[in-house]
Amino acid sequence: MENKPKKPTPSLKQNLGRHQAPAARRGNFDEVALGFGPEEALTEAARCLGCKAKPCELACPVNVKIPEFIDLLYKEDAGAAASKIFETSLFPAICGRVCPQETYCEAACVLKDKFGPVSIGRLERFTADHARVNGLIQPPPCAPDTGKKVACVGSGPTSLAVAAELRKLGHAVTVFEALHEFGGVLSYGIPTFRLPREVVRFEVDMLRRMGVRFLKNVLVGKALTIEELKKDFDAVYIGSGAGLPSPLGAAGEDLAGVYSSNEFLTRVNLMGAHKFPENDTPYYIGKRVVVVGGGNTAMDSARCAMRLGPESVTLLYRRTRAEMPARAEEVENAMEEGIKFEFLTAPVQLEGDERGRLRRVKCIRMELGRPDASGRRRPIPQDNTEFYLEADSLVVAIGQSPNPVIQQTTPGLAVAKSGCITVDAATAKTSLDGIYAGGDVVRGGATVLLAMKDGKAAAKAIHEKLSGS
Ligand code: FAD
Repeated sequence: MENKPKKPTPSLKQNLGRHQAPAARRGNFDEVALGFGPEEALTEAARCLGCKAKPCELACPVNVKIPEFIDLLYKEDAGAAASKIFETSLFPAICGRVCPQETYCEAACVLKDKFGPVSIGRLERFTADHARVNGLIQPPPCAPDTGKKVACVGSGPTSLAVAAELRKLGHAVTVFEALHEFGGVLSYGIPTFRLPREVVRFEVDMLRRMGVRFLKNVLVGKALTIEELKKDFDAVYIGSGAGLPSPLGAAGEDLAGVYSSNEFLTRVNLMGAHKFPENDTPYYIGKRVVVVGGGNTAMDSARCAMRLGPESVTLLYRRTRAEMPARAEEVENAMEEGIKFEFLTAPVQLEGDERGRLRRVKCIRMELGRPDASGRRRPIPQDNTEFYLEADSLVVAIGQSPNPVIQQTTPGLAVAKSGCITVDAATAKTSLDGIYAGGDVVRGGATVLLAMKDGKAAAKAIHEKLSGS
């Protein structure tokens, strides 16, 4: 690059990258964040101070070697930068796109307050994409076969992390997935405009190239039980996620036009309903869509709905913007795309027409009281503030819990009241010998990075058990 900035140049302003214009993107499912070009990446890499204490690396749940990979990128060696990330994470193109960097690595960047943090997530994404497109990525070497076999249930980020770590150590790994696509929420939940599927497929495929076996359409707990798996494998890791939607609990939830976010997002993202009738799966949203919730799932549901062409999409959230668990960037994107936010508002009743179709939503305004168990201020309904919103469809995105199939068919497996599997926090061991669990099935809904962190901890414990170390 001509005029390459001298490193470090911390006082340059943080570059947040280019985005598709809101007016254009609300009509398509193409990626919204366009990422860095090579020059932008070098200039942003030049901002990194390469702090000796590495606060960013310590704040990352999987401790990606951030200052080192950014330095290699600055030296224009994207292949070496990608390999450096691979030492601790095999999924940089995914994490660079969907991890909440603002609460992990970028929150710890010493430049944050004065000039804005180094755009670590965008640099990670650039490194991974550049290396992928230019064929610079090779699967990491695997140790000679140990003769030990491990089964992973589910193919979300937690199982993928277990599979990657154990395969590198020479164990044979088979992944059992209930759906017909691999990747868990990365494939059926997060929309393509945030995470293109070729990125997920490439990173899953790399595990295949390392020798991991992937079996689809196998619902463990029905097609075969954990006890049966245990007979054929030396260890089993349960990474079955939290795919059971929480209901609203309001009258009228069974009306036509009311979806759980799981159903809605799966129809669009996995089954391609937006391309109906080219694809077999239809959808109905009508002219006015209401989405309930304040997390990433609610944001993804609202933004998917907007791309299906209704007149309006309104999001109801019972607290304020400050308490929203969704990534800040996604809330901003949603607002730019024209989604209307009704804060301090909750639905209390859904009303239908004579054909049983949703017609309007009775809402109530809230005020915030004292903090509740989650640490956030409790929303309190306000008397005489009810009002109606006309609606043809409504998506409930207020949380999810683990699907109970495995818990119900595995005698002796300790399960908490919430439906989450109980484990030893350090080793991911369940109450049953040789059975481990992690990710959302244990945490009840968290982040991709925490799911990966659990997977890495479990892989370490499984390896120790299998190798007798
Ligand atoms: P999952 O990703 O849920 O994968 C579990 C897999 O197990 C699934 O493929 C499922 O089909 C399979 N399975 C379930 N039961 C069985 C069974 N009995 N037999 C076989 N297979 C089974 N996190 C972020 O960090 N950033 C984001 O931007 C973000 N956005 C999100 C958006 C949405 C819409 C959702 C729902 C979540 C989002 N999250 C985000 C959270 C994140 O995706 C999850 O925390 C993470 O995927 C959990 O990983 P996991 O591997 O534990 O479970």
